[in-house]
Amino acid sequence: MRHGRVAPIKSETALGKGNLWRIFGFLAPYWFRLVLILLTVAAAAFIGLVPPLLVRGIIDSAIEGADRPLLLWLSVGLFSAAVALGLVGVLRSYLNTVVSQRIMYDLKLRMFTRLQSLSLRFYTEARTGELMSRLTSDIAGIDTIISGSLVTVAQNVLILTTTLVTMLALDWRLTIVSLMVLPWLIIPTLTVGKLRRRLRTERQQRSASVNSLMAESLGISGLMLIKTFTREREVLARFQRENWDLMELQVREALVGRWYFMLLFIVTTGGPAVIYWFGGGQVISGSLTIGTIVAFVALLSRLYTPATDLMSLHVDVVTSAAYFERIFEYLDLEPDISNAPNAVDIENAAGALEFENVVMEYTPGRRALDGLDFSVEPGQMAALVGPSGAGKTTITYLIPRLYDPTQGRVLLDGTDIKGLTLESLREQIGYVSQETFLFHDTVGVNLRIARPDATYDEMLEACRAASVLDVVERLPEGFDTVVGERGYRLSGGEKQRLAIARMLLKDPRILILDEATSSLDSHSERAVQMALATLTEGRTTIVIAHRLSTVLAADVILYIDEGKVVERGTHSELMALDRRYAGLCREQFATTLSGTGWLD
Ligand code: ATP
Repeated sequence: MRHGRVAPIKSETALGKGNLWRIFGFLAPYWFRLVLILLTVAAAAFIGLVPPLLVRGIIDSAIEGADRPLLLWLSVGLFSAAVALGLVGVLRSYLNTVVSQRIMYDLKLRMFTRLQSLSLRFYTEARTGELMSRLTSDIAGIDTIISGSLVTVAQNVLILTTTLVTMLALDWRLTIVSLMVLPWLIIPTLTVGKLRRRLRTERQQRSASVNSLMAESLGISGLMLIKTFTREREVLARFQRENWDLMELQVREALVGRWYFMLLFIVTTGGPAVIYWFGGGQVISGSLTIGTIVAFVALLSRLYTPATDLMSLHVDVVTSAAYFERIFEYLDLEPDISNAPNAVDIENAAGALEFENVVMEYTPGRRALDGLDFSVEPGQMAALVGPSGAGKTTITYLIPRLYDPTQGRVLLDGTDIKGLTLESLREQIGYVSQETFLFHDTVGVNLRIARPDATYDEMLEACRAASVLDVVERLPEGFDTVVGERGYRLSGGEKQRLAIARMLLKDPRILILDEATSSLDSHSERAVQMALATLTEGRTTIVIAHRLSTVLAADVILYIDEGKVVERGTHSELMALDRRYAGLCREQFATTLSGTGWLD
């Protein structure tokens, strides 16, 4: 069982037996269509034999025997065979496309569902670019194995055998002469295939690197960093260098087969010369007909093309296998946070929270929380303060089970939260982070994420309570204005209040608040504070506090350091204690507090 971790991508892997069965598992639902595909392939292989044989008949029987009706019938037959081949081809490509696209759709769905179920731990370790590439290009890559390889194998094997049998039936000596040419095709195909595969892998890695350079340096944050540090020239130089290497690789890849293709051309176009020479001699001595030679030459291409295709197929299969391996790696990740077998639903929690000797290690051996103990009564507000890296954010992650503690328990109303269903637990909890994330969609849609069935009036009421209604009313299309990425830009304070309105709609029993550190102007600040006061009323609140007003309003302040609670009490109690909290307060709120009496 794997836990949310992915090994570095291997560029190529051999396809294990188990995985082969899994691939068949994905094909199984479409067995009927696949059988139809194979039937069309077989039909094409047999119909393809007809024209050379008809040509032989035309030359040897109809023309030689001056038989006009036979000539007409055979010519009609030749034409009909072409029409039939064309129609079978259309049917095959239709079925092929439908089956491979459906399989890709199934895989994409399975992978997306799996990715959604993975915990935060997975996402902090994975690269978004890599996830996207597995979801798109890897899945697209397996198209080859389904529509290309499977059908190609069946098709080529069938064409090869039927052609060989027909050739042998026509003349065994000419068949041997034709086969002697084959090694000239097979050996170079194998060598060049290997080289091209190596170059292709190298090119894919290079182009992934160029792509990520582009994504990073053309994204807003990267671009700002580059501009403000005036590093455009260095980035450009790197871009130039990497692109140059990529270009050179691509040139090599394109040119590597040039001698090979020449040989291929000579053999396929020059091969018939051998037949004409050898067969011609036999015609002169009277042991062979001209029609047979012509039919042989026509059959020759049905021998060479499938043979080279089958040889180069290996390359495609190995590449597709690598894609499948990578997809399976993701499908095999076990969600490390999921419902326990006997988990129960919790409804209408009172909101008593308790941390019991909680230890949390992101990486084994490094404790972010080190035996943490505290409890919060229903409806109380607990403010977490302490130096950077003390473990405050980690505490807030454990409540909605974004992570699970390494040791110890977190209890809600006296029950270990691991015994509750994730859905019902998270229903009880509202998380307001420092950065408000808005989807690129309307205000209404962004609000209804909290409660999809919220009515217009309820949204209106929530916005009013969060002091953001006037902002929404001023938007060009009110609740229907598109905000978020590439949408209408709301200010920091407005976004925060919208997040508060969203939380009011959700109406959770427990509230987790990561107060924004960035200070707003005093008007916005007051609006946010008012909205927060409405939101926290009557709810158990855990707040990572950065503002004086918040610590003053808290029922209990927990001073966290190195993953432990080192001081606890109200503001005045901790000021009276005059230790670390008092020190931090004096440092942080000195200007705000001078002359208020709160620092005494
Ligand atoms: P700040 O006030 O600066 O946000 P914090 O008190 O919220 O800090 P946490 O974010 O909880 O601190 O981090 C506690 C410790 O855990 C830090 O030492 C941090 O480096 C570590 N940490 C946090 N997230 C991870 C992670 N995903 N992987 C490994 N270590 C982590």
